Amino acid sequence: MADTFDVIVIGGGPGGYVCALRAAQLGLKAACVESRGALGGTCTNVGCIPSKALLQSSHLFDEANHAFADHGIKVGKVEMDLSTMLARKDQVVDQNRQGIEFLLKKNKVTYIKGFGKVTKAKTGAHEVSVKDDKGKTTAYTAKYVVIATGSEVTPLKGVEVDEKQIVSSTGALTLDKVPKSMVVIGAGVIGLEMGSVWRRLGADVTVVEFLDFILPPMDGEVRKQMQRILEKQGLKFKLGHKVTEAKAGKDGVSLKVEPAKGGAAETIKADVVLVAIGRRPYIDGLGLKEAGVKVSDRGFVEADQHYQTNVEGIFAIGDVIGGQMLAHKAEDEGVACAEILAGQPGHVNYEAIASVVYTWPEVAGIGKTEEQLKEEGVAYKTGKFPFTANGRARCNGDTNGFAKILADEKTDRVLGCHIVGAEAGDLIMEIAVGMEFGASSEDIARTCHAHPQLGEVIKEAALAADGRALHI
Ligand code: FAD
Ligand code: NAD
Repeated sequence: MADTFDVIVIGGGPGGYVCALRAAQLGLKAACVESRGALGGTCTNVGCIPSKALLQSSHLFDEANHAFADHGIKVGKVEMDLSTMLARKDQVVDQNRQGIEFLLKKNKVTYIKGFGKVTKAKTGAHEVSVKDDKGKTTAYTAKYVVIATGSEVTPLKGVEVDEKQIVSSTGALTLDKVPKSMVVIGAGVIGLEMGSVWRRLGADVTVVEFLDFILPPMDGEVRKQMQRILEKQGLKFKLGHKVTEAKAGKDGVSLKVEPAKGGAAETIKADVVLVAIGRRPYIDGLGLKEAGVKVSDRGFVEADQHYQTNVEGIFAIGDVIGGQMLAHKAEDEGVACAEILAGQPGHVNYEAIASVVYTWPEVAGIGKTEEQLKEEGVAYKTGKFPFTANGRARCNGDTNGFAKILADEKTDRVLGCHIVGAEAGDLIMEIAVGMEFGASSEDIARTCHAHPQLGEVIKEAALAADGRALHI
């Protein structure tokens, strides 16, 4: 007789494990199936966590090389020990994995190691078969199945990833020596974060981007400013270009690059090429077709606003359903989905999900961009304040960037906020809370902000939306 659960979640990433955890908190008998041999998904194993560990290490290296002297700190020759840096990153990943396993145990979630497949779709008793790494298959049944299988790297025709010379983000996290030259294909989040890591460690980095600008979903002003800052840091951009072929050989990789709008191709060479042109949903071998679960043309599992697919009792969350491919979005969907399964009104406010790019300075955006507001014909006002006018930013030596608040012209309700600046990812969270509560820019401006803090940039931007910034 197969083990029976209230809910089986397939995928142990931030969407899946959080969903199982919340379901268990709410009294449901929950299991989480994961095939990679470790919990935490893309985020913990090959995404958010290892990339941020390397961003932090490379930032400190860069600060020691370029910023300490301004503070009167002499350190002599700064040397890099890449293997220690990589080992530290692996240790951080491991701590996070173990933490998640502990949390599942603590909450009595059954962790099933292996590859899950929906083998029978039957309302009230769906069957999931799990094949372990020894090839043994065990069947389980559950009232509800949640698909949380995430995403994988989008391949690029003519550019075959070998994870040594031509790498995806996964290979870019484990390079055992700093390449002399690196070409990054795609000026999105991964391209700029991983490009920054290797640039700071000494590589000559060129980013080839199909569009005429970097960081496509971000606010236009933010994109421009960030490009200038990154160029000053030594990153080179080849915008409006695409790579049509890459060949790895003994003396590096040879790439064919041509203008996106057509024109003569040129050849450029690099020691390492990073392909970062986006991610696509991962649904291989899940048995969705046989189970009758609808999938879009682009492979995303189709789910309604309660995360239910077209098959009763089969739900889907996280990267695999599309939208913003972010760990916190996946987590919040996991929570909402579990609450719905437990009969509660689970909900995610998609208007207030912040995106953060962990370059230095950071980039953060929430809500509407100016371009979106213009396109939608919304009357809005803008309040902007630069970090150069903030006392704490001067103390820290981090005066690059600005914060911009967009508010409804009539009601003053905050519609969006966009920041380039130190700690932008943390600073934007007060706007996330504000937007969740329907705050006006006046509400933000009247909130007493501690001094001297970078957060005063946000307060001043809110004051500026009413034309009364104080410190500029
Ligand atoms: P995933 O994390 O992809 O987890 C899905 C899991 O399901 C995987 O572990 C997979 O092995 C497992 N699985 C798949 N099929 C099966 C099956 N049939 N049976 C069993 N298990 C299966 N987001 C942020 O918010 N902040 C960041 O800083 C950030 N940095 C990133 C950096 C990089 C380099 C990358 C690649 C991504 C980054 N992301 C970041 C995105 C983030 O990792 C994803 O949005 C997030 O992991 C999605 O969570 P998920 O649970 O939907 O899927
Ligand atoms: P992305 O969508 O952020 O950027 C891909 C870039 O590649 C775009 O600018 C696109 O125009 C460009 N591009 C596409 N095809 C191209 C081609 N043929 N030649 C040149 N350029 C091309 O994708 P990504 O950077 O691969 O990241 C994938 C996902 O992972 C993102 O959705 C992101 O949300 C998530 N992620 C998030 C974080 C974070 O939150 N800090 C960090 C890393 C990844």
